[in-house]
Amino acid sequence: MTSTAEEYDVIVLGAGPTGENVADRAVAAGLRTAIVEAELVGGECSYWACMPSKALLRPVAALADARAVAGSREAVGDGRLDPAAVLARRDSFTSHWNDDGQVGWLRDTGIDLVRGHGRLAGVRTVTVEAEDGSERVLTARHAVAVCTGSRPVLPTGVPGLAEAHPWTNREATGSPSVPGRLAVVGGGVVGVEMAAAWRALGSEVVLLVRGAGLLPRMEPFAGELVAEGLRDAGVDVRFGVEVTALERTDGTGPVVLTLTGRGPSDDGRGSGDGERLTVDEVLYATGRAPRTADVGLEQVGLKPGDWLEVDDSCTVLGVDGEWLYAVGDVNHRALLTHQGKYQARIAGGAIAARAEGRALDTARWGVHAASADSAGAPQVVFTQPEVAAVGLTLEAAERAGLRVRTVDHDLGAVAGASLYGDDYRGRARVVFDLDRQVLVGACLVGPGVAELLHSATVAVVGEVPIDRLWHAVPAYPTISEVWLRLLEGCRG
Ligand SMILES: Cc1cc2nc3c(=O)[nH]c(=O)nc-3n(C[C@H](O)[C@H](O)[C@H](O)COP(=O)(O)OP(=O)(O)OC[C@H]3O[C@@H](n4cnc5c(N)ncnc54)[C@H](O)[C@@H]3O)c2cc1C
Repeated sequence: MTSTAEEYDVIVLGAGPTGENVADRAVAAGLRTAIVEAELVGGECSYWACMPSKALLRPVAALADARAVAGSREAVGDGRLDPAAVLARRDSFTSHWNDDGQVGWLRDTGIDLVRGHGRLAGVRTVTVEAEDGSERVLTARHAVAVCTGSRPVLPTGVPGLAEAHPWTNREATGSPSVPGRLAVVGGGVVGVEMAAAWRALGSEVVLLVRGAGLLPRMEPFAGELVAEGLRDAGVDVRFGVEVTALERTDGTGPVVLTLTGRGPSDDGRGSGDGERLTVDEVLYATGRAPRTADVGLEQVGLKPGDWLEVDDSCTVLGVDGEWLYAVGDVNHRALLTHQGKYQARIAGGAIAARAEGRALDTARWGVHAASADSAGAPQVVFTQPEVAAVGLTLEAAERAGLRVRTVDHDLGAVAGASLYGDDYRGRARVVFDLDRQVLVGACLVGPGVAELLHSATVAVVGEVPIDRLWHAVPAYPTISEVWLRLLEGCRG
């Protein structure tokens, strides 16, 4: 084991999208920066999450769009996706799980890459253990940013789960082949997106959900319309069901799930207690935990395995001095790439300001406050129909004590939507703050709504008064004309 000490201004632990952006901002401020990465530069997002999942889902949407319109419908007929072509395109979007391109970007940006597993070793000190066992010690003059992301969580105490080698997001986004039968456990975003993708690629898919609906953090109609879309695509969606045991006897053959619960299945059989379900693979999409178990948190008085609690500038709370930052998934504010990158811009600015001895502007919407995490984080679910949501749901707004009214509109009644697809089905809702006369939330469900979302984000984050929004005219004939009806509802 060798040990050398190197000094930087800033050390970033983890080269996912968040870490890369913290490092980029630090370098842009003239700070000498190192980034430590244990696996691939680009992180979960580039190789096992956002990019490959959206590469799998984009052909599903393209085919659905072609099918939705008389004329192009006849052109595609009842043809199915070509799985080999879809998987090959997915592979190209992950650069075949090779990070040369992103390593080149680090080099061109002036960020030093240190490969290995990083751990805090004390105040502004990090050790990096390389694969060959050698160790480097890095010290930071100004800041260390922990950007180590999150990992999938599997339930504990389920007999046979480990031996069944369940899929997590890594296999679900990276599988080189299409399983004949796939069970997906969990009705959140990852569960519904992966159920949609693999069903379209030809798997028989059963979606097993413990609760009574899908997408529990969104407006209830979002989950209802997505469940309808999945069922139309042939996914067997079951609610009120739990997997109590799994058996995969020879390690590679089919896996038998034992189910409990009374949720009805699509064929009306119900998932009675003890029903056994045989599938080729089972995906657990049952939540995320922070990657903090082995990053040396105990060296700075924090508890390993915990989410890192931060203030709005992403400075970690409970640590002496203002040198430790936690950015992205690891701080649990909003587990989304774009919010992680947003936090990175905020934290990078805070690091630079402190390094120059300037005071931070952490007032709400200040340059060093990630206020949008709670007020206006947008999210898209890339199923058919798509879900695009920002800000608060009605339930969340009421919980926050706001006096609100919702305005709903049938998206299918909008001229632009009926042109987009024959028999277009969808729904839109805005949550209107009656006291401040601004929108605090919006949820759009329907084909092609993802690209409408930014208008809602601007309205919510900009706190644009409804009387001014009235003058933001949507082009005719686009789906965006739904705004006219929604705004009439707010004013009326
Ligand atoms: C299936 C799936 C689909 C998703 N789709 C979307 C989407 O469409 N849009 C969206 O916005 N979000 C999506 N997400 C969420 C998104 O992937 C995360 O929010 C994002 O990856 C978080 O970025 P991060 O940089 O914080 O962490 P990560 O991307 O997890 O990167 C963390 C990096 O830190 C490294 N690391 C960890 N520990 C150490 C250590 N001790 N030393 C050195 N390196 C270390 C890891 O190897 C990794 O490279 C999806 C998630 C999943 C699971």
